[in-house]
Amino acid sequence: MRVALSVFLALLSFRAAAQNTKPLVVATASMFADMAHQIGGELIEVRSIVPVGGDPHIYSPVPGDAELARKADLILRNGLTFEGWLNELIAHSGTKAHIVRITEGIEPIQSDTYHNAADPHAWMSAANGLIYIHNIYEALRALLPEHEAELRRRYERYRAELQALDAWIATQIDSIPPQWRILITSHDAFQYYGRRYGLRLESVLGTSTDADVQTSDIVRLYEVLDQYHVPAIFVESTINPKLLQQIARDKKVAIGGKLYADSLGPKGSPADTYVGMLRHNTLTISRALRGLLRREALASFEAQATPAWLWLMLGLIQLGSLVWVARRVWQ
Ligand SMILES: [Zn+2]
Repeated sequence: MRVALSVFLALLSFRAAAQNTKPLVVATASMFADMAHQIGGELIEVRSIVPVGGDPHIYSPVPGDAELARKADLILRNGLTFEGWLNELIAHSGTKAHIVRITEGIEPIQSDTYHNAADPHAWMSAANGLIYIHNIYEALRALLPEHEAELRRRYERYRAELQALDAWIATQIDSIPPQWRILITSHDAFQYYGRRYGLRLESVLGTSTDADVQTSDIVRLYEVLDQYHVPAIFVESTINPKLLQQIARDKKVAIGGKLYADSLGPKGSPADTYVGMLRHNTLTISRALRGLLRREALASFEAQATPAWLWLMLGLIQLGSLVWVARRVWQ
């Protein structure tokens, strides 16, 4: 084992040196690419196969992806049925890259939708994120043994950041009234998050996004909304929001905001890193489920029923009568 590892290490260093460039690390999705970037920094070049905003569940590789996989020194995959298209891409590319499953060591949650299938969304809990980044750190250390000290320094700083994030998320979710700790989303990407931080989950789709919507799922959601009067439901960045918007209108419940699960947000957005994505989701969820959006949402439903000019007119009339009353009182 040790001999095999040292041969592997030597081979990796040789490949990197022969190309005289930074080693190329290819991740299947943007959040994993960001984790690798946080640890590898300028020592590596990182690329994501599925672009930001893309849906890894139903991704169809483009010709450039095989070329990217072929040139890769290291490929980072989630596994747990997330990237159904990856094995074929790897076989087709003829890549010699080392392929690491970065969920190694995580206890998977079984999917409710598919029997004998794991729920892939393990990164949604920052506690699992710590296992992801440890696996990535080990893979990068094997790739760049000469930079071990710098990689360790960067990894330890990142680990401290994720530990603090994990504790902060717990306090934010604790601030939601217990009866409203129910997260309703498009697809079932938040089971790990919910289990870690104490939220009950309901979704329209199952664990994957290519399933058909079942009427029974919608009926169940309506029952939950009727029973608990949850103040908000949430759309997701990679999924068409129409159905959730319809449910929100029908049940007069607020759209709590856009959550990120299967992709980071675009560069410059609050969710453009893995840490930023979990922070943004948590702020969005805790604000909406504390009921802070309810009044705004009700106002917007009223506004939809009444044209804006009418509100303006009514406002002006009211203001006019106030001024009139005030002048009568002061005269
Ligand atoms: Zn997903």
